[in-house]
Amino acid sequence: MAGLVAAMELRARGHDVLVLEASQRIGGRIWTHRFEREGRVYHGEFGAMRLPASHTRVFALVEQLGLTPKLRPFLSVFQGQGGLLDCAGQRFGFGALPEDLNLPEWPAAEGLSPAAQRFMRRLALLVTVMAPREVRDLAFPQMGRDFLAAVQRHLAEAGPAADFADPGAILAGLQAVRGRINQAFHLFLSDILLKAAEPLFQLAGGADQLPLALAARCGAEIRLGAEVKAIELTPAGASVVAARHGVTESYQAAHVICTIPLPVLRRVAVSGLDAPTRRRISGLHYAGATKVLLFCAERCWEADGVLGGASFSDRLLRQVYYPHNQDFAGPEGVLLASYCIGADAAPIAALAPEERAVAVRREAARLHPALARPGMVLDSVSIDWSAHPWTLSACSTDWDPGMRDTVPDAATAQAEEPQAWRCGPLVLAGEHCSRAKAWVEGAIASAQDAVAMLACAEPSPAV
Ligand SMILES: Cc1cc2nc3c(=O)[nH]c(=O)nc-3n(C[C@H](O)[C@H](O)[C@H](O)COP(=O)(O)OP(=O)(O)OC[C@H]3O[C@@H](n4cnc5c(N)ncnc54)[C@H](O)[C@@H]3O)c2cc1C
Repeated sequence: MAGLVAAMELRARGHDVLVLEASQRIGGRIWTHRFEREGRVYHGEFGAMRLPASHTRVFALVEQLGLTPKLRPFLSVFQGQGGLLDCAGQRFGFGALPEDLNLPEWPAAEGLSPAAQRFMRRLALLVTVMAPREVRDLAFPQMGRDFLAAVQRHLAEAGPAADFADPGAILAGLQAVRGRINQAFHLFLSDILLKAAEPLFQLAGGADQLPLALAARCGAEIRLGAEVKAIELTPAGASVVAARHGVTESYQAAHVICTIPLPVLRRVAVSGLDAPTRRRISGLHYAGATKVLLFCAERCWEADGVLGGASFSDRLLRQVYYPHNQDFAGPEGVLLASYCIGADAAPIAALAPEERAVAVRREAARLHPALARPGMVLDSVSIDWSAHPWTLSACSTDWDPGMRDTVPDAATAQAEEPQAWRCGPLVLAGEHCSRAKAWVEGAIASAQDAVAMLACAEPSPAV
């Protein structure tokens, strides 16, 4: 998305643009997989699937590309009907937390008021089922005495409390005590939970329509199968070496906008970089992710009362997302039966693709027993983003296992920094340079900032 947006905006300003894309597919981390049965087509998403309402650049682009009529609500975790939790060996709905639920990492809650106990039980549950391992490891140890005391004080001031079955109430409570939680935990909560609490949208028919429409409209030549191997910066511009069909090609350009994900870029020979840019490239933390899609003969979860949204498991699956608002052509449906982020992705990544389908189906049948019925699962596909050669991970993250500090007052000090990194004729862009890391919005924002950085340049060739 960053490369295509940059190409479109540069073309609009009269530059010559050539896009080099290593893979044979357009879209990068927007990747829709389609299943077909008797002429009926269904899709699932390997990459991006939700568009939060606050991501205004995405919606401006969707409008510009004529895709607005395809927008449909995407029911978030908390808006969907009937999502289940498979946690600490019990299966229950979001609203009905069992009294005897034994969460292994339960923070010590003795001496707390009943309201604070309810709050902490709900918070511990959310973190257990929703946070990736790295964030759980940071979150639980710090729910210590200071934190609990701050929660209790806040709840006493806030007056009679709800039962916190609504995650929004938990978020409101956490906002009040945010100075007591560390940065990684805070970033996780604001990104994942707040995004899940605002209206979300999806593109009917598949998210890949966005990059495909952009590629058709951007007006630049896109060379597929061209893997960038080296970039050399010179006073006159840059030269780029790419391998295509086993042949090495060399390009000269006045400017290069490079949107290669950093884990891949770290393996590209880039010469002439200054020290701050080298540090930025090597310093950013990335998290992996796996997804497993099951193509099912029937949307059997609907019989269990689940109509959209998600379920969560503290076991292998982690997150399960249900298809909805998809103009279903028949009884079939694609279940995103497992979506794991960060260290939680490792157990699925370690399995061979055919083993993944078996293991995930068995686990998903704990939530929806009908999935185990012969003939119910027609096909399955999976992806391990850390093994994907053109990403080598899923997304950059603001949370980093090394972050142990509490939220600094100056957390927003960098808010106005450009979302692209310039080093002479080279501008690095992509979600990793942005403030909306791991979102399409971030990729767009970064590309727009990259183009703005070059705006003073006269029309001239650019790669
Ligand atoms: C599992 C998952 C779920 C996500 N869910 C959401 C979501 O719900 N909503 C949302 O908004 N965002 C989501 N995202 C994030 C979103 O997909 C990304 O932030 C965004 O698509 C990144 O765009 P980009 O242009 O920065 O990078 P990419 O899309 O990765 O583009 C980089 C391009 O560079 C190419 N490339 C790599 N190496 C080379 C090379 N050496 N030479 C030439 N080309 C190369 C790649 O093939 C790729 O096409 C998700 C991402 C993942 C992985």
